[in-house]
Amino acid sequence: MKSGKLIVLSAPSGSGKTTLVKDLLHKEELNLEFSISAASREPRSGERDGKDYYFLSLREFKDKIKADEFLEWEEVYRDNFYGTLKSEVQRIWDHGKNVIFDIDVVGGLDIKHIYPERTLAIFIKPPSIEELKIRLKKRKTESEDKINMRVAKASTELATAPQFDAIVTNDDLEKAKQEVYQLVQKFLEV
Ligand code: 5GP
Repeated sequence: MKSGKLIVLSAPSGSGKTTLVKDLLHKEELNLEFSISAASREPRSGERDGKDYYFLSLREFKDKIKADEFLEWEEVYRDNFYGTLKSEVQRIWDHGKNVIFDIDVVGGLDIKHIYPERTLAIFIKPPSIEELKIRLKKRKTESEDKINMRVAKASTELATAPQFDAIVTNDDLEKAKQEVYQLVQKFLEV
């Protein structure tokens, strides 16, 4: 079995971690490949199955839990399950690449606990809860209710930050990109 390293970027929804993950994926020397999670929510406009997520029905998702196909999974929001398939990590390692995850804080810490030495877990911190709310509203992908739900969750998520290997505050995107790059580069020794 081939195996590489794992890079986890976790943050409350709206902290800009997806942008940071995309930036890292452009750096060829880091040899990273994105772990496509499975999700039971509906695709947003522009999202594609097998690219952004493996979109599963709730039933399909629960069947895979029963069959022990997940490395980690979680009901992030009610009836919205998200998880990392064991086969996904293996697929990337088989390519000779390191895995990068864009997942929530609980999932991120699960990965860190499963592979403590091989994982670099970075917490991306929004400048403030207020700023987070503004960003989520600007994104216009969720209803007011869902935004409030995500903001409420963010407060508990922020409390987990000290359990990560590193914390990067995303108030200046360029600076955050650079900080994250340096942490990853050092961990992968490239
Ligand atoms: P969204 O619906 O905005 O795409 O994602 C909602 C939340 O689920 C985000 O915080 C995202 O990071 C998290 N998430 C995505 N994939 C996974 C996964 O595989 N496992 C876990 N635990 N969380 C995930």
